[in-house]
Amino acid sequence: MVDYGIPFWSNNDFIIEDGKVKVNYGVCPPIIDIVKQVREDGYRGPLLIRFPHLIKKQINKIFKAFNNAIKQYHYEGSFRAVFPLKVNQFPHFILPLVHYAEKFDYGLEAGSKAELILAMAYTRLGAPITVNGFKDKEMISLGFIGASMGHDITLTIEGLGELETIIEVAQSMGKPCPNIGLRIRLHNGGVGIWAKSGGINAKFGLTSTELLEAINMLETSCLLEKFTMIHFHIGSQISDISPLKKAIREAGNIYAELRKMGAKNLKGVNIGGGLAVEYTQHEGEQDKNYTLEEFAGDVIFVLMEIAKNKKEPAPDIYTESGRFIAASHAILVAPVLELFSQEYTEDALNLKEKNPPLIEELADLYNSINERCAIEYLHDSLDHLESLLTLFDLGYIDLKDRSNTEVLVHLIIKKVIKTLKHKNHSDIIRIQKEVQERYLLNCSFFQSLPDFWGLSQNFPVMPLDRLNTHPTRSASLWDITCDSDGEIAFNVKKPLYLHDIDIKKEEYFLGFFLVGAYQEVLGMRHNLFTHPTELSILFDDDGRYKITNIQEAQTILDVLDDIDYDTKEIERSLKQRIEDSILINEEERKEILGQLYIMLSENGYLRTVLNGEK
Ligand SMILES: *Cc1c(COP(=O)(O)O)cnc(C)c1O
Repeated sequence: MVDYGIPFWSNNDFIIEDGKVKVNYGVCPPIIDIVKQVREDGYRGPLLIRFPHLIKKQINKIFKAFNNAIKQYHYEGSFRAVFPLKVNQFPHFILPLVHYAEKFDYGLEAGSKAELILAMAYTRLGAPITVNGFKDKEMISLGFIGASMGHDITLTIEGLGELETIIEVAQSMGKPCPNIGLRIRLHNGGVGIWAKSGGINAKFGLTSTELLEAINMLETSCLLEKFTMIHFHIGSQISDISPLKKAIREAGNIYAELRKMGAKNLKGVNIGGGLAVEYTQHEGEQDKNYTLEEFAGDVIFVLMEIAKNKKEPAPDIYTESGRFIAASHAILVAPVLELFSQEYTEDALNLKEKNPPLIEELADLYNSINERCAIEYLHDSLDHLESLLTLFDLGYIDLKDRSNTEVLVHLIIKKVIKTLKHKNHSDIIRIQKEVQERYLLNCSFFQSLPDFWGLSQNFPVMPLDRLNTHPTRSASLWDITCDSDGEIAFNVKKPLYLHDIDIKKEEYFLGFFLVGAYQEVLGMRHNLFTHPTELSILFDDDGRYKITNIQEAQTILDVLDDIDYDTKEIERSLKQRIEDSILINEEERKEILGQLYIMLSENGYLRTVLNGEK
């Protein structure tokens, strides 16, 4: 059985059973059943399915890991955490998160005014709010308003200019003043493709000279008592634990030094996010070299040692991990619309009474392939292909011959792969790149997997059923945008194999997993494809599930309205053109108008259905 690397990436959130991928919770529903149920209600195109129980699982996991490490080392500080809103601000993610957060006083992190408004509205009093990113006077005032609501809110200063503004606002707005955090610039930078957040040339943070100046400014404006936290973030998806350990050691020492300089209310070290998610489907290609438990243990241990050596109290530890919390909760399901070389079947073969000798020979090869001669025949057929194409260029064979050649060679390759399916012959592996099948998916990678497009981030992908059947086609995936970047190419090092299906007779769905972090809000409307239809799966206490929060993808008119078109004018103009056209007769007019209006009120994804189906 091909398991699509599920043991590497799924954390047991999803399992394979009876040839289907199932949600490993409650009654363990097969995802394909959920998809079919939703499609029966008329929803077409891609689906984004949320599993809120996985948000709860991740929150529980991170608190458990840190609290266990605290117990193990008899650490005297506490563990606190916030969810960084930039990772996913969508309500059907955030509302369940805030609900599950209560038990832990888990808070929210905001990086903009709009996010801060969300944090102030949805964080429970008592849970922390942290505010990062560049801030103007208005945003700082918003922080003061949050503090006067009773929120435990910390404004993290990214530069001295911001501190000046805080002092100004504090003087004009008076009490209560939010807590102040200082973002420190570490010389131990981040690693990986998201590394720009850390290091000496980082976009954010105060140098040690600026830190000294900041303490000075806080002291003279009587705000030093409000300085409670230092903060750093060395980048997302940290693959290697060692730079993180160095960063924590550096930050721990800065913490102790600042306390010795009189920052007596400095009690928190905020280590930012960066906890990595394992996305790989292939052995030996792992994205990270540590476990959550190791991560938590290292953070606690390093800070404990520094506090002990410098005779300062152990700091409270804050994290802002986002990817780790959000990634697993959502999957994207894309219907396959077409296999491009589907036409290369025996039916497509149209041999003449008398064929060129090389074509006769190809037909013989095809009919007599067996395991022993498969590779030899494969080589012969590729030689013949080359010769026949040259003959075509020179005008010796016609288009019908050329078509027969292409069909026969494809048939031979397919048969060879099938005959040798359990052998890893190097020729087979090489040839798979040449004969990959292109699967056209009803979705947009730009909208739903933007990090694939922008950062070559791979997301685990697999068919939702037929997992009892060996997949034989090396696959490349194409989305329906007309952009050549909308392709996930076949990669010999990380091969993807899919099933050879007849899409005219049967449905085939691919699931992309771990898409719950960053993808939704970064997704772009290339070709005006919008956020897909989304839904949540909720389990009750008996483990039964229900489909809730269905939100259909935006209609065509709404998309056009969003980018500021006058949709009334568009409707008017289309109607006028139909009415004025001399190519349309009176009876057709009404029907065409009706059709057009239906289309305008549907989403823009393709609505292909199986033959015979309505
Ligand atoms: C982006 C960001 C995070 C979240 O990082 P993850 O890698 O998703 O955990 C946390 N803190 C800050 C300051 C960030 O900018």
